[in-house]
Amino acid sequence: MRYPPIDCRHTFAVALAAAIAGILAANAANAANADASAPAVTALECGHLIDTANGKMLGATTIVIEGGRIKEVVNGAQAPAGAKTIDLGTQTCMPGLIDAHTHLTDQTSRTGYVDKFHWNVADYAVRSTVYARRTLLAGFTTVRNLGDMDNESIALRNAINAGILAGPRIYTAGKAMGTTGGHADPTNGYREDLAGDPGPADGIINSADDAAKAVRLHYKAGVDLIKIMPSGGVLDESSSGDNAQMTLEEIKAVVATAHDYGFTVAAHAHGAEAIRRAVIGGVDSIEHGTYMDAEDMKLMVEHGTWYVPTIIAGDFVARQSKVPGYYPPQVAAKAAAIGPLIQATAGRAYKAHVKIAFGTDAAVYPHGQNAHEFELMVGAGMPPMFTIQAATINAAQLLKHDKELGTVAAGKIADVVAVPGNPIDDISLMKQVSFVMKDGVVYKLNSTAVDPGS
Ligand SMILES: [Zn+2]
Repeated sequence: MRYPPIDCRHTFAVALAAAIAGILAANAANAANADASAPAVTALECGHLIDTANGKMLGATTIVIEGGRIKEVVNGAQAPAGAKTIDLGTQTCMPGLIDAHTHLTDQTSRTGYVDKFHWNVADYAVRSTVYARRTLLAGFTTVRNLGDMDNESIALRNAINAGILAGPRIYTAGKAMGTTGGHADPTNGYREDLAGDPGPADGIINSADDAAKAVRLHYKAGVDLIKIMPSGGVLDESSSGDNAQMTLEEIKAVVATAHDYGFTVAAHAHGAEAIRRAVIGGVDSIEHGTYMDAEDMKLMVEHGTWYVPTIIAGDFVARQSKVPGYYPPQVAAKAAAIGPLIQATAGRAYKAHVKIAFGTDAAVYPHGQNAHEFELMVGAGMPPMFTIQAATINAAQLLKHDKELGTVAAGKIADVVAVPGNPIDDISLMKQVSFVMKDGVVYKLNSTAVDPGS
């Protein structure tokens, strides 16, 4: 049953909590030990530091960390006396990376469309714990999660925040919202008697009133932001990947209600008309934006709307569309048409001075490969330094958390990653993150995962 009554949802939640608690109890115990024995001050002696606020590569720099925050940033190798010193002298440090478009609770596979009929929410939740760890170890200390099956990413976020699980800091939209038969409708392609008619509780809206109710139900569920689907999409089993699927009135109702609750709104949109409506409707970001035209770009600059290209997702689905049987036929046709176009759109948007934040649509391709997006952005014509700013200070601004994230400076949250060498000379080094610290805790050192308890 895809849409269980309230009692069944409760049962799912209990199963989910039990699964996470059972698997990870040992990690929790280790984390508790770490707190007791960790030195009060840690110093990272970096060969170089990327100043993301000014787009500059600095020389040798020491980052001093205390209590999960950056205490001070000083020139040279100058660890204070008594500090636990970590030698990153051959490496380039930068703020923890931010992926502004992930789906941590799912992942592409040949059986993904059939799995939906066999798996419960707990199955997605348990797998998400592995994907979250992989994402963190790839250097992504924060993500914006833009859609899950049944709000299981909220439980994942809470378990990570509680220190039970290793994973990125998650800002989640819960379930995505859209219209009947649209990209967010989880029943597209199902047999009619199995599909039912999902409504606002499942994120499916067909009026301004439905939109307000859906946002309020998401608020009640504990989301951090709202994700909408104003256009068709590639991976659902319907015919169009780019048609306009929400009215301007529906979009405006989502945005107005979301802003009442302090939420930003991210809009998946491939078609030019859907992008136009979303921007005029007041959304904060356009995701994918494949057929974005000059008028859309002008409107986005005027409205200050962010663009999150997700080139890697387009690249991956275009390649997989050629693998016989990997996607259902309708999906393969859309993937072959839309996938290859995103990179060129991203290049045009950069030239048109549209604000760009880094995001990948992780799940559409395997988790942990997020950093390949850097090379694809450079391939689109963006300077390497800009792509790193897109994944740090820009993405932090999009999240409205730039006071805490996105730069290495005194007072900020101690999220720091490093790569071996100079990524401005060779952007592919971003795929070789060798050091990961989140909230002052080391998760990767010398290119090796570290148990934070040891
Ligand atoms: Zn997505």
